[in-house]
Amino acid sequence: MLCQAHWNAIHRELESLTGTLHDGLEPVLKQPDRMEPAVEQLLPGLCFVAKDCSQHRHSTHRHVLGTAQQEGYYIRFTDRAGNLLATVGEELPDLPVRKVTELWQTLQDPQGHRYHQISLLLKTSNGNPWGYLQVGRSLQEFDLFLANTRLALLLGLPTTLLFVSGASWWLAGLAMRPVYDSYQKIQQFTADAAHELRTPLAVTRAIVESVLEMEIVSEVEARKTLRTIQRQNNRLAQLVQDLLLLSRIDVQGKPSPLTRCCLNVLIKDVADEFEALAIAADLTLIPEIRVRETLWVLGDEEQLYRVVANLASNAIQYTPPKGKITIRLDRNDHHALIQVQDTGIGIAPQEQKRIFDRFYRVNSDRSRATGGSGLGLAIAMAIAQSHQGSIQVQSQLGRGSTFVVKLPAE
Ligand code: ADP
Repeated sequence: MLCQAHWNAIHRELESLTGTLHDGLEPVLKQPDRMEPAVEQLLPGLCFVAKDCSQHRHSTHRHVLGTAQQEGYYIRFTDRAGNLLATVGEELPDLPVRKVTELWQTLQDPQGHRYHQISLLLKTSNGNPWGYLQVGRSLQEFDLFLANTRLALLLGLPTTLLFVSGASWWLAGLAMRPVYDSYQKIQQFTADAAHELRTPLAVTRAIVESVLEMEIVSEVEARKTLRTIQRQNNRLAQLVQDLLLLSRIDVQGKPSPLTRCCLNVLIKDVADEFEALAIAADLTLIPEIRVRETLWVLGDEEQLYRVVANLASNAIQYTPPKGKITIRLDRNDHHALIQVQDTGIGIAPQEQKRIFDRFYRVNSDRSRATGGSGLGLAIAMAIAQSHQGSIQVQSQLGRGSTFVVKLPAE
């Protein structure tokens, strides 16, 4: 398309030049096959055949038809039989001269340079055929353009294709990454959930099978078996309940119904509920309300209770005897801050990011012994986030941990 436009421009240029020459020359041509001196006035630099034209060629005199005297252009006059009569042009190409009847021609000199030429029959002032006017120009510039375009296409096309394929591959990867990540998370979650569900089921089955193999089962043994089954059943029920709660929060995104919850009361209730457990573990549990006014948040009271209860329960589980647990309520600008602080075993820095992952336990064996499934903090975080809040942890190994729940206050 670009080459065609270039070619058309060459045509138009030659056509307009030849047209102007034709109109200017015909009135001064008197006799067929004979060059009139008047033509020389119109075209300075005109060189008659068999004359030395070197002065003309280097003449600085320019005519209105200056284009024809530029480098790469030539004008030739031939008689009706095709014999050269005169020429105009600085470096005349070595091109064959003959009678040409077709309008357009592309010629080639011995060096292989191409020229595009237009030939027009000139008539004398009284309308008889005079001879031919041939105007041509070098195609060197056009050929160079053509070669460069070809090269650009040849190199550019594969490069562009390579670039486009690379970019598409990269973009597709980028777009797929979140999908891939969530797919992996779902897979991990399903595997973990299946694993957690399988454990109590396997325990129950093993116990039932061993009791069934006995010929006589005493009442004591039967009760012991039933209690184990009950414990495993409770564990299963708790796990299923936790999973359902998580999926409900995932689906709903935000709590419903929304009610006004008084955090001062909530903290007191949690402290009351866990006091006995703390005393049994030889721990001191202190509720610390640091706000004078009552702090309200908008949300699901039961879920918010669950957040603080989970943190308090963890604090008790992971704090050795004689330790201290503080449940603190504070306010910071527009946020309510609940801090659950313990003097327990602490969490290593590299684990602190992961403890909120579903089913993640820092020390699997020890945490399992405490009865946790690794869902407690994941549930607490999901609840806090669905209330436009967050949970952060600060902890030092052997020193204790502080979990800070931040919720938008009313
Ligand atoms: P779990 O049901 O096992 O307690 P959580 O999600 O509540 O699961 O906690 C994840 C892990 O984070 C626990 O296994 C425990 O190792 C660690 N963790 C949670 N709270 C504390 C704490 N107060 N002190 C030390 N470690 C804790």
